[in-house]
Amino acid sequence: MPPAPEPRFVRWLCGNGQDRARYADMYSRFARVYLFGALVGTAVLLAAVWFGWVLLVLHLLAMVTIAGSASLRPRARYPEVVGACGFVLLELNLAASVAVTGGVSSPLLPLVAVPVLGQAVCFRPRAILVGAALGAALTVLGCGAATALPPPPPAPDVLLLVSSLMVLACVVLLAHLLVSSDLLSRGEAMLDPLTGLHNRRLLESHLEEACRQAWLTGRPVSVVVCDLDHFKGVNDGHGHGRGDAVLRGFAALLREAVGEEGLVHRMGGEEFLVLLPGCGAGRAVRLAELVRARTDEGRVAGLHVTASLGVATAGPGHTDATRLVHEADTALYEAKRSGRNRVVCATRTP
Ligand code: GH3
Ligand code: MG
Ligand code: MG
Repeated sequence: MPPAPEPRFVRWLCGNGQDRARYADMYSRFARVYLFGALVGTAVLLAAVWFGWVLLVLHLLAMVTIAGSASLRPRARYPEVVGACGFVLLELNLAASVAVTGGVSSPLLPLVAVPVLGQAVCFRPRAILVGAALGAALTVLGCGAATALPPPPPAPDVLLLVSSLMVLACVVLLAHLLVSSDLLSRGEAMLDPLTGLHNRRLLESHLEEACRQAWLTGRPVSVVVCDLDHFKGVNDGHGHGRGDAVLRGFAALLREAVGEEGLVHRMGGEEFLVLLPGCGAGRAVRLAELVRARTDEGRVAGLHVTASLGVATAGPGHTDATRLVHEADTALYEAKRSGRNRVVCATRTP
């Protein structure tokens, strides 16, 4: 039986599995959620010295909310709903804290930004806007309610400074959280997980950049396409795991042979592409021959394997990236057709 569709509200917070995975990742980084609680709590507790037990009770409730949503989340069918409810309760709590500490003149006013920032890190843009609107509305309500309450005792200005600094600390924490997660996912999106080489997706931008540079500087650009020979036989004869080890070993060999001179990409399967900015056909062919010879003479992951390589170079003014790769592919095909374990260059070498 297909799973029941998620309620609209759930889709609204996290639209699909990817959103939910992102939420889970963010929340796992939010393990420092208690740190946020502690930062906001420091300002609230300090304020409680002036404003009394009501603030202490509100603080206690906030702690219960944080701990409650943290313990309910792992068991909940829709963890993001638990998280969202937690944020709303915290917004409500802070609005009440603002109300009992003077409304618009409350030193706790800056703290209302913290749960809104938390939502901004976790949910989809639409949900963030609604969370922010709700936070703003509750804050205005809190300020309005303050006018109906007896005026609180005057508090020192330093309380406003403390709560502003706590908000600043929360912003830094959240920015760190976002940036570290962003860097990680970008890295994962750009690298081939098996070999750690650049993946095909990154090749497009690398090629475009190399061709633009070649056009600007009047220098050539070369590509070398490498394909392991009869690799299916490695899988069939030694197993997929050994095949993977050969791919990793060949990737390391390529990386070492190319060094700083170029960028190595895994195109998929047992096919690799080396981009050599500023490199002419002669140098590219010598490098391809070095890779071929090292593969043939050494053992990759304990096995004898060979590679066929196709080389193409674009001179200044002929920097059509698609054509360049196509020419290298045609040269590779020729290398396969004429017996494998060889280098064929599409361009006349000087
Ligand atoms: P040729 O000399 O003509 O290139 O023959 P080949 O056997 O190398 O080429 P073919 O395209 O027939 O087979 C490629 C094989 O690579 C088939 C596929 O199972 C294997 N392969 C693709 N990706 C991976 C991978 O990530 N790991 C492993 N172990 N094998 C892979
Ligand atoms: Mg092959
Ligand atoms: Mg292939």
